[in-house]
Amino acid sequence: MALGDLRGVIALDGPSGTGKSTVARRLASTLRSGYLDTGAMYRAVTLAVLRTGGDPAEVARTARVEIGTDPVSPTVLLDGADVAAEIRGPEVTLAVSEVSAVPEVRRILVEQQRAIIASIVNTQGGIVVEGRDIGTVVAPDAELKVYLTASADARAQRRTRQDAAAGRTATVEATLADVQRRDDYDSSRAVSPLRRADDAVELDTTELDLPGVLTSLLAIVDSRGLRTGQAVSP
Ligand code: C5P
Repeated sequence: MALGDLRGVIALDGPSGTGKSTVARRLASTLRSGYLDTGAMYRAVTLAVLRTGGDPAEVARTARVEIGTDPVSPTVLLDGADVAAEIRGPEVTLAVSEVSAVPEVRRILVEQQRAIIASIVNTQGGIVVEGRDIGTVVAPDAELKVYLTASADARAQRRTRQDAAAGRTATVEATLADVQRRDDYDSSRAVSPLRRADDAVELDTTELDLPGVLTSLLAIVDSRGLRTGQAVSP
């Protein structure tokens, strides 16, 4: 039988540097589904907070964050301007976990995320959503929940390579410290901390390359009958 498109929601959570973004985009492209990077939304609000010096909850209410859902070219606009590169810079990376821990910021962004997910599922049939609380809070009824992990060392190496490719230089040691600082912050905040959903499939990517991770995930997608044209598994 020809393999079809994704139907439903795949929630992809985990700490930074596990390869989550690359995996989520490739998975969405392969399954011809939508893609939502929720971290980019927290980063865009953080950039607006840094620029205006305003109260994070108020900024989250008023900033116009527009996020593209095409996995081939995801776009991020803040008040109409392209901020895709700037939100990955060190200033935003340093401040994003603190802004993300504000309950009202989360409430506003989770509401927007749920609306985007519902609209894409309605129009395209399926979406891959990546973040920290997708399986636990944003989309607890997702058809598939995946929690990616990797050793702190592997995550720091990956992040350093990504930064270098984007023209940002930092030592592996500095990146490791940043990755650990953000993980601690994200895991210990009071509202929707980073944690694996009880019904998530956990995949350790320390020793896996991208094709290896994708092969594992596509096997799970197919075993659950999540593509159009497949019988739904009981
Ligand atoms: O995924 P990324 O590293 O771009 O996320 C940046 C930050 O945004 C995370 O460190 C976390 O503080 C926050 N975040 C979050 N909830 C999400 C996605 C990201 O709190 N669903």
